[in-house]
Amino acid sequence: MDQIDCVVIGAGVVGLAVARALALQGREVMVLEAADAIGAGTSSRNSEVIHAGIYYPQGSLKARLCVEGKELLYGYCAVRGIGHSRCGKLIVATNNAQLAQLQGIVAKAAANGVQDLVLLTREQARALEPQLECVAALHSPSTGIVDSHAMMLALQGDLENAGGLVVLNSPLAHAIFAQGAIILIAKDGTELQANTVVNAAGLHAQALARRFAGLAAHLVPPSHYAKGNYFTLSGRSPFSRLIYPVPEAAGLGVHLTIDLGGQAKFGPDVQWVSSPDDLVVDPARGEAFYAEVRKYWPALQDGALIPGYAGLRPKIQGAGEPAKDFLIQGSAVHGVAGLVNLFGIESPGLTSALAIGEHVRRLLS
Ligand SMILES: Cc1cc2nc3c(=O)[nH]c(=O)nc-3n(C[C@H](O)[C@H](O)[C@H](O)COP(=O)(O)OP(=O)(O)OC[C@H]3O[C@@H](n4cnc5c(N)ncnc54)[C@H](O)[C@@H]3O)c2cc1C
Repeated sequence: MDQIDCVVIGAGVVGLAVARALALQGREVMVLEAADAIGAGTSSRNSEVIHAGIYYPQGSLKARLCVEGKELLYGYCAVRGIGHSRCGKLIVATNNAQLAQLQGIVAKAAANGVQDLVLLTREQARALEPQLECVAALHSPSTGIVDSHAMMLALQGDLENAGGLVVLNSPLAHAIFAQGAIILIAKDGTELQANTVVNAAGLHAQALARRFAGLAAHLVPPSHYAKGNYFTLSGRSPFSRLIYPVPEAAGLGVHLTIDLGGQAKFGPDVQWVSSPDDLVVDPARGEAFYAEVRKYWPALQDGALIPGYAGLRPKIQGAGEPAKDFLIQGSAVHGVAGLVNLFGIESPGLTSALAIGEHVRRLLS
């Protein structure tokens, strides 16, 4: 049986960032990826926003890793020439009842170390974005966008330069953890012995962990999937910054994001689904988008929204339950030496990826 020091399961942005961090530490690393390309999962189905770290509870992993990851990511983009833009975003209150929410966001952000939010009057906001309708807005200057595929290619490049490798078309079937040894069994029956395994299988992380013999089943959280549908705007973007309504229960509201080519899209909405493969956008959901978007952009024309793509948030709580933090379990939690499970790595997972990589590296040191 072949032996290797570290195996990371999943070549999404998080798996690649973890693998890179371990390889840069001098460890021997292999990434096993089920698909025929890197970044084929949720990492290619998101908004590509570098989040500032505004919304998450103080002290949570989401808050800490987002703020740390944002700085690491801007630095990484600069050094590696990865396309990005610190374009900023406006969080808009469209009625007076939402003004208190804006104040709450300022306080939450400050508690997370994000001190750069600026409260704008309607006039100040419209001076920045003349087509915007609102009663007030918060400007977040450290929010930006990134070319997530260029980022993942750079992570893979660093991993490979440090001697690591990504093996595609290699779904892990199950694993056995016994007497300090880890045996990984791929779907084709190939067996591999490892000292360290990081489960970064995204939407499939819980299903995979349930196939880890030796891991207590009660420590694996349930899987829930909150689909986010996007609708693309035909024509030029009316805004040069990202525009967000105040957040709603399971997502950040139907917001406008821009990609590096200047294409605007609206979404993601929140649609709870039962399958991790349910990725088709129902064009009928566009109707609700018109109403939501017109609250802050009344000039949206009928017929301007085109069904785009969808991504699934890997939730560990169900519809109506309070939001949960990233769940990163090392041996202190489950008692299995050499294993780290990453559960519920939803937004801001892209922003946090480099910081998650460091966090997991430290857990395994
Ligand atoms: C709609 C939406 C919008 C988002 N917007 C943002 C945003 O703007 N900014 C932000 O910071 N975050 C955002 N996120 C979150 C971000 O996209 C994710 O946190 C991040 O992509 C998760 O990366 P990952 O590597 O954990 O998972 P994935 O990208 O899903 O990668 C997991 C990989 O594991 C592989 N895999 C699964 N099972 C196995 C197996 N048995 N063996 C081998 N390989 C396996 C899969 O094929 C996949 O490639 C958004 C998420 C969604 C759903």
